[in-house]
Amino acid sequence: MPSPATLCAAVALPVPVDRLFDYAVPPALDAAARPGCRVQVPFGSRRHTGVIVERRPAQGRERLRALGRVLDDEPVLSAAMLQILRDEAREVFCPLGIAIAAALPAGSTPRRRVRHALTPFGRTALESGALRGALHAVAERLARGPAGADALRRVSPDAADALRILVADRLALRMEEEHDGVAGATERVATRTAESESEDPDTLARRAPVQARLLAVLAAEGTLATAELARRIPGAAGALRGLERRGLVTLSRRPRTSDVLGTPLEPATAPVQLTDAQARALEPVAAAVRARRFEPFLLHGVTGSGKTEVYVRAIAEALRSGRQALVLVPEITLTHQILARLRARFGDGLAVLHSGLRPRERWEQWTRLARGATPLALGARSALFAPLEDLGIIVIDEEHDGAYKNDEGFRYHARDLARRRAQAAGCPVVMGSATPSVETRHAAERGEVGLLRLPERIGGRPLPAVQIVDLEKERAAQPRGRKLILSGPLRRALRETLDDGGQALLLLNRRGFSTKVFCFGCGHAEHCKHCDIALVFHAADGRMRCHYCDYEMEPPEVCSGCGAPDTALLGIGTQRVEEELRARFGDARVARLDRDVASRRGATEAVLRNLREGRVDIVVGTQMVAKGHDFPGVRLVGVVLADLGLHIPDFRAAERTFQLLTQVAGRAGRGRAPGRVVVQTFAPKHYAVASVLQHDYESFYAEEIGHRAALRYPPFGHLVHVLVSGPDEDAVRAAAENLAGVARQAGGDAVEVLGPAPAPLARLRDRYRFQLLVKGADPESLHRTGRALADDAAQLAAPLRAKVDPNPLNML
Ligand code: ADP
Ligand code: ZN
Repeated sequence: MPSPATLCAAVALPVPVDRLFDYAVPPALDAAARPGCRVQVPFGSRRHTGVIVERRPAQGRERLRALGRVLDDEPVLSAAMLQILRDEAREVFCPLGIAIAAALPAGSTPRRRVRHALTPFGRTALESGALRGALHAVAERLARGPAGADALRRVSPDAADALRILVADRLALRMEEEHDGVAGATERVATRTAESESEDPDTLARRAPVQARLLAVLAAEGTLATAELARRIPGAAGALRGLERRGLVTLSRRPRTSDVLGTPLEPATAPVQLTDAQARALEPVAAAVRARRFEPFLLHGVTGSGKTEVYVRAIAEALRSGRQALVLVPEITLTHQILARLRARFGDGLAVLHSGLRPRERWEQWTRLARGATPLALGARSALFAPLEDLGIIVIDEEHDGAYKNDEGFRYHARDLARRRAQAAGCPVVMGSATPSVETRHAAERGEVGLLRLPERIGGRPLPAVQIVDLEKERAAQPRGRKLILSGPLRRALRETLDDGGQALLLLNRRGFSTKVFCFGCGHAEHCKHCDIALVFHAADGRMRCHYCDYEMEPPEVCSGCGAPDTALLGIGTQRVEEELRARFGDARVARLDRDVASRRGATEAVLRNLREGRVDIVVGTQMVAKGHDFPGVRLVGVVLADLGLHIPDFRAAERTFQLLTQVAGRAGRGRAPGRVVVQTFAPKHYAVASVLQHDYESFYAEEIGHRAALRYPPFGHLVHVLVSGPDEDAVRAAAENLAGVARQAGGDAVEVLGPAPAPLARLRDRYRFQLLVKGADPESLHRTGRALADDAAQLAAPLRAKVDPNPLNML
């Protein structure tokens, strides 16, 4: 057994090479260099930050370079987490270093920071009065302590030039320091001193009323942030300085945790009595929590059936036994619902992790979990990497949602990773949905996943009545040339809803179908010059824009397809629907919720709050409006064009359409008044549309699973999707053909190779795209094939690129 000092450190680095790199461990770092710690290492001529994966005997014979700094006192990744990442990275052909980089919160990598300091010469020069103007200003600032460029610019506009002179004359010194990524934020706080107690409040109140008020507040509430005091008491800043000078108050700094929760949207509710169905669903989950047993469950309950309450109880069970809980939602900005419910039950201590946070906020949340400050974390898919080492339960809400798949770099699926984590921790994982993914539902059928059902809405509320409007017929009955955005039945339903004082949601599903923007005229759409994709009209500035490369143009006067002078050729976007609503329902307050709106921080929340609090009547939006929200005032849901998503060349198109329609239909009638749903479509008979009529998941599933079996699509077969891209079409095709050959050779008879063919999105940002799809029933042969493809793809010379995805969810 070699002594630890002779064991090198195997480090995973975020480079596209699938191996670990060995480094010698200097004796001084031997104790600190533990697996799971971040380290800095020399790599080529540069330095990289990586994570020690293991200590092992050196693999090669060459002399090893030595580790640089060890950045963490405690490992940031536990042994269990490292193992999970290793397993998953191997499964999805991702270099471990890249997987690890995806797992750690952004901003945790140290950065280099340049600051300047005054030398002793500089100090003498400053004190002797030899420096003038900008030189003096900069030197004076540096005399108070080292400063970066930004701080110096604030003392003089010529700071950069002055600094060069000071450095050249050795009056100042340039310092390069490591800066540990996001430093914890601090805030200034004020505390009353003991001396202040002998101060007579009445005298003070006469002489300095603001100071007196500050002392009174600090006496009553203890240490407070100066920012908070300034908000509450006008003139607090100056008065605090006065108090400090007189020794009545001390000012200091303390670490601050940003408020990432925002204000609660929902008042806290009293615990309810579980319904029988809820109690039956909870029982096996709670039993698994108590037994510390890994067990996957599918909680299949219609919208409004009380799934969230079941999660909350199961979480409470885990927390009661001193363990931790992790709750995943597809997109946190859209899921205030569950956050509000968790806060109402467990208080504000929970940690929240998602990509909408600033890097520093994420790092704060992460470290709070790591030091055990809270046992409950809520987040989007990346929250799966949260440092919770004694998990008692994992909940995945809306488990069918495509957002659980990471499509860049480390292409993990949160469902698979959650399973690995639960397995390692010995705890149940509860996947909830009103429209389970076909894969999960099929696993339940085979007994691999426990099936729990909540077949009815809480309080026996009926599911909304669904009406399907055949646009083909409606159009035939319309005067020629009139654009049909809101059919007669939908307009009538809107009118009635508004007259009854109800609210309406209008869905225009646009994501994913954008290769063919639907035109109610001739079907033509203006395309981007660089991408094989239709441009989107933005009413705000009246221009058409590519949502991939941002190319933009003025809309043409007439449709370049049919010459019609009708602006409907722009296809219908949410803005167009909004316009139509304003034109037809002048009395209604209309709001829009789409990607444009959501890109402004807080804007989504504002629209949702207005809807909840009755300040808008109609919200028109993209799929964002479909998910998980509970708006008691919404009585009508309208779907502008249900079949848009059906034309996507993807075997999941029908499943996604059914899920989206069912989800959005579930937004209607959650309050006391019954809801109704109007679905406009050109494909009223398609099973993905027709099943929505009866809220009939089972009949949809029965039909869909038949298609999957016949075509050997998941869950009956496995897929590997390869996408090759580059600026030269012939080179891309040749590379794709070469990869197809690799796949045939590696997979042999066990796999079927489809393609190469131009991808549905055949050109993007001036890069041509070809794809191939490898299908197979045997997971092992398919994995072998995927491995061979990934290795070959990694060898492609730039500008050619290929990505190999073993679990494709998005095949555009
Ligand atoms: P889901 O998550 O299945 O859509 P929710 O958990 O949001 O359903 O429940 C729908 C509504 O019913 C919510 O307003 C919730 O507060 C309420 N609710 C849930 N369970 C109960 C219960 N056992 N008794 C009374 N109301 C309940
Ligand atoms: Zn473009």
